[in-house]
Amino acid sequence: MPILVEYKRGLKICRTTDNLIFLADPISAKGARGSQSVFITHAHTDHSMAFPNSGTKIYSSKLTNDIYHALTGKISKNVQFLDINKTEKIKGVGVQLLPAGHLLGASQTLFYFDEKTILYTGDISTDKMITVPQATVPEGDIDTLIIESTYGTPNIFFEPRSTIKFSLLKWVMDNLQKKRVPVINIGYSGPAQEIIAFLNEMLSVDIYCNARVSKVNEIYKREGVSINWYDYDQLGEEPFRPENSIVLLPRSAKKPPSFLEEHRIARGILTGQAARFAYSNFQQSFPFSMHANFRELLELVEKVNPKTVYTIYGYDSELAAVIRNKLKIPSRPLKAIGKTTLEEFF
Ligand SMILES: [Zn+2]
Repeated sequence: MPILVEYKRGLKICRTTDNLIFLADPISAKGARGSQSVFITHAHTDHSMAFPNSGTKIYSSKLTNDIYHALTGKISKNVQFLDINKTEKIKGVGVQLLPAGHLLGASQTLFYFDEKTILYTGDISTDKMITVPQATVPEGDIDTLIIESTYGTPNIFFEPRSTIKFSLLKWVMDNLQKKRVPVINIGYSGPAQEIIAFLNEMLSVDIYCNARVSKVNEIYKREGVSINWYDYDQLGEEPFRPENSIVLLPRSAKKPPSFLEEHRIARGILTGQAARFAYSNFQQSFPFSMHANFRELLELVEKVNPKTVYTIYGYDSELAAVIRNKLKIPSRPLKAIGKTTLEEFF
């Protein structure tokens, strides 16, 4: 087995013949040490920890680096940008980034080893949205697929994203009519921009968000996404019109900002986790995710049609079991302890 994949503070791909080690999405800069090259699929902080101080050469899309900087204020070191869809040689191995949906700049990573092709999806969405394209299915044969499984269980059901968006729209309109400011907790990067772009399309209202979301929004706008908003950290330049405004808060924010104290508000939250948990502190929750759901993950595996599949993150055991049993493709979670190859697993 000249190429081994395993989970070691990130996705580790090792060619044993010359001890070449690639690491994707390490969970710490420390974890990146010992590998020759690090790949960062997207800017969400659970995937991009190695950006600021890895001693190892890092590869990512430029947009991933830009959004990382907007989110954290940190400067990346030792980074080389790769163009999406273009194959580059890295340590003699062809590497191609493919669109992953999910978040602007997010990419899948396709490794063309002489011995086999390996596709790592990173976080992925296969649904075409306003702000990001759907994930690309590679044209050639894939030997090994490593697929995210955040929602990889049939026990978590999602309505179509369009249904959730329209129920959010209705809730927003109802509350504006009742003279309450809709205040929505939402993820900084990805969901916030998708929902702003959607509400911009549907309503003529002012959308307010904080400075950090604004920085990410600016990158989306620069990349041609039609998106309009106000930064509530800059309030004072424009009057706040409660009868015609929506306010977005960070997903975990408990207390609304002080400028809302004098207004009647309605609290909502939009997150994929609302498909799992009741958010009783909110009047309404909206189960919306920019991760592929269970059905979408299975469809993607079928389309890629790999020889073997490893699952990573979230419901990895559940998804691997369905891929084995339903699609008849050998599959197991990448993190299965003490077992580094599929052969050992079965
Ligand atoms: Zn992500």
